Amino acid sequence: MNPKTYAFISDLHLQAEEPEKTNIFLRFLQSEARSVDELFILGDLFEYWVGDDQADEPCIAEIILNLHELTKTGTKVAVMHGNRDFLIGQKFSKLTGASLLPDEVLIDIHGQRALLLHGDTLCTDDIDYQSIRAVIRNPEWRREFLKKPIGERRQIARSYRLESESAKKEKEKEIMDVSLETLYSTLREWNYPLLIHGHTHRPQHHAHEVDGANCARFVLADWSATRGHALVFDKTGSREIDLS
Ligand code: MN
Repeated sequence: MNPKTYAFISDLHLQAEEPEKTNIFLRFLQSEARSVDELFILGDLFEYWVGDDQADEPCIAEIILNLHELTKTGTKVAVMHGNRDFLIGQKFSKLTGASLLPDEVLIDIHGQRALLLHGDTLCTDDIDYQSIRAVIRNPEWRREFLKKPIGERRQIARSYRLESESAKKEKEKEIMDVSLETLYSTLREWNYPLLIHGHTHRPQHHAHEVDGANCARFVLADWSATRGHALVFDKTGSREIDLS
């Protein structure tokens, strides 16, 4: 049997206001993704997700339909929550055929242990963000939020985004990158795996030496209106593919 082909994407931040980017994703689902055995979407597929009733919007409905077409052809799709779309729920999973992943997952890629994360949990120097995260990831907050009418939820999500955009401008760049201390303790905790994450929008392949162990870290690229990116592992090794 041939080794499986895995693809990893993150930080697409899809929204109705950016149809070009959505089209790049739809083309990817209809072409390259078909030859992938397992597609991992590591968070922030959407710019915001205020509840699974958002699936009724025409732009979202088309994305869901195409994801469903892909899973029907036999490609497994797994979705991890990002900081923007952490409210993706069971209805989305049912409509697309994609499974929902917990915040940290260890998988096996051709005999190599790989830890998958969105990446925001590594950015512990951003104390403001981490305290907001602790609030909004609380199940009680989630229950109360989802009870509100969709218009109100959209409004709240919008004000959160504006707030975080303006806060970002004032924060030093280092604060919004991963904390090396947290990174090393995570690698230690998981027994020195390969690490794949997104979130920081700082695509790069890093090599870390921790306690004498060599750990590769792949940071996935965010998508723009003109270009998408995927990290692929197949029988020839790992490679980046650009999508347009
Ligand atoms: Mn993110």
